[in-house]
Amino acid sequence: MSSFNEERVLSVHHWTDSLFSFKTTRDPAFRFRNGEFTMIGLKVGEKPLLRAYSVVSANYEEHLEFFSIKVQDGPLTSKLQHLKVGDPIIVSRKATGTLVLDNLTGGRNLYLLGTGTGLAPFLSIIKDPETYDRYEKVVLIHGCRHVNELAYGETIAKDLPSDELVGELIRDGLLYYPTVTREPFRNRGRITDLITSGKLFDDLGIAPLEQARDRVMMCGSPAMLADLKTLLLARGFVEGNHGEAGDFVVERAFVEK
Ligand SMILES: Cc1cc2nc3c(=O)[nH]c(=O)nc-3n(C[C@H](O)[C@H](O)[C@H](O)COP(=O)(O)OP(=O)(O)OC[C@H]3O[C@@H](n4cnc5c(N)ncnc54)[C@H](O)[C@@H]3O)c2cc1C
Repeated sequence: MSSFNEERVLSVHHWTDSLFSFKTTRDPAFRFRNGEFTMIGLKVGEKPLLRAYSVVSANYEEHLEFFSIKVQDGPLTSKLQHLKVGDPIIVSRKATGTLVLDNLTGGRNLYLLGTGTGLAPFLSIIKDPETYDRYEKVVLIHGCRHVNELAYGETIAKDLPSDELVGELIRDGLLYYPTVTREPFRNRGRITDLITSGKLFDDLGIAPLEQARDRVMMCGSPAMLADLKTLLLARGFVEGNHGEAGDFVVERAFVEK
C-alpha cells in the first residue's frame, strides 16, 4: 500500500501575493493529532515533490486545510500557488510533530507563539476542545511584518467564537493578539520584545509569563525560535519533546537553506 493518499483541492484562498490557503478532501483513515504536520506535494513527472506542512484543520473536520507561503523560485510552492479546485494533491498517510498537548506538562495558561505561516499548527490546536480542558486561558500571538499577512485574523476573531462545537470555549478561553513590525497597527512589535517589555501582558490584562503557571508552544523562523528559546530558558522553562513533557515545545515553520 502506498504511504500517500491522493486528495483533491476543494477551495483556494489567496491572502496576499506571498500567502495562500487551500482545503482538500480527506481520506477518513488519515489520523493526526492537532498541531502535527505531514508531508504534502505534487507529482512532477512521475516523482512526488513533497514538503512538510502543518495541518490547519482540526482532526475532527472532514476536510484538510493548509496555509502556505509562495516562494517564487521554491521547487514546490512556485507550482503549488497555482492550485485550482479539483486539482490532485499528494498527502502522506502519516503525521508527526512536537506541537502537541501531550508534550507539555499541565499549567494554567497556554501560550501559542507563531510568526508567518508558523500560525498554521495553532489553528488546529485552538479548535481542539481538549486544549480548553487542560488550560484556563489560551493566548494566541501571531506576528507578521505587515497587516495583510495576519491571515485568519477574521476567522479567529469573528467566526470561531460563534462556532457550534467550540465557540463557547473560544469565547471564554482564547485571547488572540495579532502584532506587526513594519507598519502602523493596534499591536506592534516582535513577540520577544512584547514579552520582555511586558506590553503584551499589560495589553491583555494578564500576569507576565512565569514558569510555574504558563506553558508555551512556538513555531516560526529559526531566528525567532532561537530568541524565544533563550528567553524561556533564562526564565527557568524546560523544553519538552516526545520523550518527556516539558514547559515549552518548539517546531520550525521552515528550514533555512
Ligand atoms: C515542520 C515543518 C512544518 C512546515 N509547515 C509549513 C506550513 O504549514 N506552511 C508553509 O508554507 N510551509 C511550511 N513549512 C515549509 C515547507 O516545508 C516548505 O519549505 C515550503 O512549502 C516551501 O517549499 P518550496 O519547495 O517552494 O521551497 P523550499 O526549497 O522548501 O524553501 C526555499 C526557502 O524559502 C523559505 N521558506 C520556505 N518555507 C517558508 C515559510 N513557510 N515561511 C517563510 N519562508 C519560507 C526558506 O528560506 C527556504 O530556505 C514547514 C517546514 C517544516 C520543517
